[in-house]
Amino acid sequence: MSIETKTTCPYCGVGCGVIARVDEDGEVSVKGDPDHPANFGRLCSKGSALAETIDLDGRLLYPEIDGRTTSWDEALDLTARRFSETIAEYGPDSVAFYVSGQCLTEDYYVANKLMKGFIGSANIDTNSRLCMASSVAGHRRAFGTDTVPGVYEDLELAELIVLVGSNLAWCHPVLNQRIQAARQVRPDMKIVTIDPRRSVTSDLADMHLTIKSDGDVALFNGLLTHLAGSPAFDHDYVSAHTIGFRDARQAALTRSMPDVAAETGLSVAELGAFYRLFETTEKVVTCYSQGVNQSSVGSDKVNAIINCHLATGRIGRPGMGPFSLTGQPNAMGGREVGGLANMLAAHMDIEDEVARDRVQRFWNSPTIAAKPGLKAVEMFEAVADGRIKALWIMATNPVVSMPDADRVREAIRNCPFVVVSDIQRNTDTAALAHILLPAAGWGEKDGTVTNSERRISRQRNFLGLPRQARPDWWHMAEVAKRMGFNGFDYDGPADIFAEHAALSGFENGGMRDFDIGAKADISPDSFEAMSPFQWPHRKGVDEGVTRFFAQGKFYTPDRKARFVPVTSARDDRTTRDAPFTLNSGRIRDQWHTMTRTGKAARLSAHLAEPFVEINPVDAMKLGIDKANLVRVENCYGSVVLRALLTERQPRGGIFVPMHWNDAYSANARVATLLAPRTDPISGQPALKSTGAQVRPAEMA
Ligand code: SF4
Repeated sequence: MSIETKTTCPYCGVGCGVIARVDEDGEVSVKGDPDHPANFGRLCSKGSALAETIDLDGRLLYPEIDGRTTSWDEALDLTARRFSETIAEYGPDSVAFYVSGQCLTEDYYVANKLMKGFIGSANIDTNSRLCMASSVAGHRRAFGTDTVPGVYEDLELAELIVLVGSNLAWCHPVLNQRIQAARQVRPDMKIVTIDPRRSVTSDLADMHLTIKSDGDVALFNGLLTHLAGSPAFDHDYVSAHTIGFRDARQAALTRSMPDVAAETGLSVAELGAFYRLFETTEKVVTCYSQGVNQSSVGSDKVNAIINCHLATGRIGRPGMGPFSLTGQPNAMGGREVGGLANMLAAHMDIEDEVARDRVQRFWNSPTIAAKPGLKAVEMFEAVADGRIKALWIMATNPVVSMPDADRVREAIRNCPFVVVSDIQRNTDTAALAHILLPAAGWGEKDGTVTNSERRISRQRNFLGLPRQARPDWWHMAEVAKRMGFNGFDYDGPADIFAEHAALSGFENGGMRDFDIGAKADISPDSFEAMSPFQWPHRKGVDEGVTRFFAQGKFYTPDRKARFVPVTSARDDRTTRDAPFTLNSGRIRDQWHTMTRTGKAARLSAHLAEPFVEINPVDAMKLGIDKANLVRVENCYGSVVLRALLTERQPRGGIFVPMHWNDAYSANARVATLLAPRTDPISGQPALKSTGAQVRPAEMA
């Protein structure tokens, strides 16, 4: 008899529901869950191929110490001892955890609790820092909390969807499917794409604005100026529910329309057409993704967008609002438990003394981190210069994904003690570990994830744990106990989830957005049966809230939103020796460093090898013909890629996918070229605008 299990896709932040079916002979197949509110039965190419990625080829199945297979007891004892000794000798800030948006919320919760409440440092950060930290910072500056105001349904109800720095058709494909289906019913729905390069998504748009890299602040400041003098300006909403409009407008006014045109690379006519469309369309959703976030001015971009929605009162109502699309399956869940170095738990602020005391009392912990820890790029700098002496990396591959990746590789190689928890044995990062801990993969692990619209869904196990693989939360809890800490005797993910829910509702007083206290007493059976739900879900309150802020009531002390004056200019890092703006990003059928999608042959059939997109005119000038091998290089590194000549890429820019690594193609890690340059507010690295040179590989 076959068995079907409802679970959630482990790839992007759409968070699609999946039904996994295991036949009598053990064969696994997947289909979309028609009842899941994120996808209503749809799946994209990656989700459809999930069953082809769960074999044990290349799996890490036993703990290892220095390449030697060992027992769990020996690996955990040594991990606990080395962390304890390092802390005793050098203090709590000499150790760090680098975790992942692939972790389940329960994994994140235990890791955060151990580091912040028991070790006493906030040196826990996540690869989600590379994905949405600028959105978090923008939300907190405007709303007081990291709150996504809207829901996916808004994309179907909107009359205008503005996609900024988002190749939605490839990176959040099921959301794109939902929009295209809505357009079949309402063909008057308009889509505008704003991106330095044309994409499959822009082919579907009514208007595409080929903006200069990082021209977004100028573009949306120009829009704010336009809206302020138009009937779309919502005076009542602005005066009742916001503060700072005058300063934001004044900041925007520092650029005239010709200045905006020069800064964005768009004509005054293009700008006018976009501004009029935005002004005259009531139901507007502005979605933004990595083209906004992965920038040294990312937080300002986010606030420039939010400013326009506050000015028009188009927020939190059906079909309206700014909408941050998260890249990873559980970037949002990590934010909820404080899996970022500058946050605490349940959206509490680590710099708030009252919040720290509240969390410490709830955990009954011996200490609590008193200041923000090292954000991702800073963390690896601290590894490189010896401040971090013991590092635990979980479910992520920084040697492939972090900017200045060769330096990161050397830093990890030279770190005195490195633990890697992963499902794969031969990742570029695992090769550098002193201790390898085998983790449970998708289909084997059990817990929750939260998608971009704040919907918490279950990831359920439908396969047994292979050999000695164990879930990440268990690795952490066992080490915590061996370090002598109480509070880590969990029976399983239901137990952890209940504690997390209880903390979210603990002494809340209605001043936090994230509160799922109604789930604090959840039993293991109810956890097993739990249907997807959106937060908040407060104890004893049947609020029926699905959207935030239509009536104001932000999470600032006076409950008013903040306009944030933003003036940042483009951060152009091209030089005579590196004249091209290098943009990096995802392709349709691969996920991150390919440790899972690389297993499915049909996913590699789409784009089979690493490439660089370059405009044909630029290529001709450089003597590069289509499909030539070319060298892309700068002061950070050098890679060899296949030239893909395309007019999608404007002159002066190149695009390289982020996925390939040494396991699949030698010398193709684009991250070796990326500068470790970050947004000063969010700490998110600028992965889309590094200067680089291109030349035929034959000349190398
Ligand atoms: Fe998975 Fe995202 Fe595709 Fe949905 S859209 S199936 S969550 S990769």
